[in-house]
Amino acid sequence: MNKGKIKSAAVILAGGTGKRMGGDVPKQYLELCGHPLLYYAIDCFSKSSVSEIVLVVTPGDEDKVKHEIAERYDFAKVRRIVAGGKERYNSSYNGIRAISDADIVLIHDAARALITVDVIERTIEDAYEYGASVAAVPSKDTIKLSDADGFVESTIDRARAWIIQTPQTFKMPLIKAAYEQAEKEAAEKGLSGFFTDDAMVAERYSGQKVKITMGSYENIKVTTPDDLQVAEEILMNRRKTNIQ
Ligand code: C5P
Repeated sequence: MNKGKIKSAAVILAGGTGKRMGGDVPKQYLELCGHPLLYYAIDCFSKSSVSEIVLVVTPGDEDKVKHEIAERYDFAKVRRIVAGGKERYNSSYNGIRAISDADIVLIHDAARALITVDVIERTIEDAYEYGASVAAVPSKDTIKLSDADGFVESTIDRARAWIIQTPQTFKMPLIKAAYEQAEKEAAEKGLSGFFTDDAMVAERYSGQKVKITMGSYENIKVTTPDDLQVAEEILMNRRKTNIQ
């Protein structure tokens, strides 16, 4: 594949409230090893082959993020900063619509601050080849589904269970068309809380099989105070060994 010819853009989602972290400061601005959490994902995508970054932030935070992150760190690939929506999938669609020109779009949770360039590039390669790709790692734990009363309903075959991460990466026309349909169906039926990731939108509306691409066990979603501590340890370790 001639990667030089593929134009890819990243949508970095930081439009959530981060309620599970507690505290007054929204988690995307919490300090992690000297920088705000949001800095790390932008920094990593800036070092990758993507040519354009769109940041999706909590409505009203656009100027703050522009001055305190994009300009402060001189992130030249950040082209647009747009407001997020009510649910994650609304924020994704806002981000996708703000991209000026790309063959491939990567959608990434800012909360996954420990993403690495190699995972980003792997998803781009797989999206280019298969149309849609999600970063994921094999589940080390047995996963069970519960019933409404909190009892085990069934057990998933662990050999086929994957923990899904981001980036989730797609050919632009495919994901744009899928999101258009998702918005239409949501307007008709509601669908509140239904879409928890972007691949679900592609699976439901594009008819395209989504390729599972190897992610990294370090690519955790920083959600609770415990995760912040783990993230700090991983970052300090990386600084020692100079991994990007
Ligand atoms: O809520 P969840 O853990 O799925 O959030 C994943 C990512 O999506 C976070 O980075 C969060 O900031 C973002 N998000 C968003 N807009 C929302 C909800 C979540 O950009 N309405």
